[in-house]
Amino acid sequence: MNDAQLTEQIKARSGLSDADLVQRVEQKKNELHGLLSHTGALHILANEFGIQAKEIYTRKSTIAELVPGMRGFELEGAIVRIYPAKSFEKNGRKGSVGSFLLQDTSGRVRVVLWDEKTTLLSTMHDGDTVMLQSMRLQQRPDGELELHSQPSSRITLSKSSVPCMFLSQVGQAATASVYGTIVAVHDLRFFEQCPQCRKRLQNQGQWVCPVHGPQSPHYGYLLSLVIDDGTATMRVILFAQQADILLGMNSQGVLALRDNPTGLPDIRKQLLGKDVALRCNVQKNDLFSRVELHATAVSVPTADDVLQMLEQMA
Ligand SMILES: [Zn+2]
Repeated sequence: MNDAQLTEQIKARSGLSDADLVQRVEQKKNELHGLLSHTGALHILANEFGIQAKEIYTRKSTIAELVPGMRGFELEGAIVRIYPAKSFEKNGRKGSVGSFLLQDTSGRVRVVLWDEKTTLLSTMHDGDTVMLQSMRLQQRPDGELELHSQPSSRITLSKSSVPCMFLSQVGQAATASVYGTIVAVHDLRFFEQCPQCRKRLQNQGQWVCPVHGPQSPHYGYLLSLVIDDGTATMRVILFAQQADILLGMNSQGVLALRDNPTGLPDIRKQLLGKDVALRCNVQKNDLFSRVELHATAVSVPTADDVLQMLEQMA
């Protein structure tokens, strides 16, 4: 329901005139010192006149339309980043929590999954479409909105179809699923990131974010290697999470290699000759007129996986 429809419904329910309604909305906004949007004020008024949230939200929303207190809405978007599940124990309760970023045409929001819902995270890939129903909307202390799963939440995934292809064919594609053998491991490279926006920091005697100014850096990393599938060889870049999966380590373990790289030669040896299946964005590097793959998902395939991929290529 948009603002105009909600306004009509409040008028019908309350008997308020247009002018009175406008005044009540302004009053609500003033009470909250301008922190409340017009839509938010309408929602509070609707509630005061006994209009059930269920009546208001029966249809799909966009991320930009989310307002505190909203319930029963549906959202659909694309998964743009996945933060794997972690187990925790707090006040005697054991559980797990993980999250992903959801993007639609209006914005981005973090979606936090709890307990049994976290198993979905391992089946998600960047670019998959997901439909969310019966999520709880929560406002963080910094004002940012987040969606949290609850036992009644419904999360429906639909896989983006990323075509399987040989390395010799990927030059024409934007995304590809490929399979190959690691024939070279170039680098595990660390770089300084802004803890707020993840932009690379510039070294100006101190570390400076172009947006946020001087920062004490977080460290990001990437793993660069070369794979060969018999039709071509190609450079592959794996960023943080994908590098973790291939290395079989968590980010703490990988970051420890920055201070103490003595383990690196062994890791390199383990990776060489290993078969990998990758879902990738295809990047064309104009400067070197070379194609490079940025992994968005990585796995070590079984013989069945490989057969299935080969069938899809035929
Ligand atoms: Zn920044």
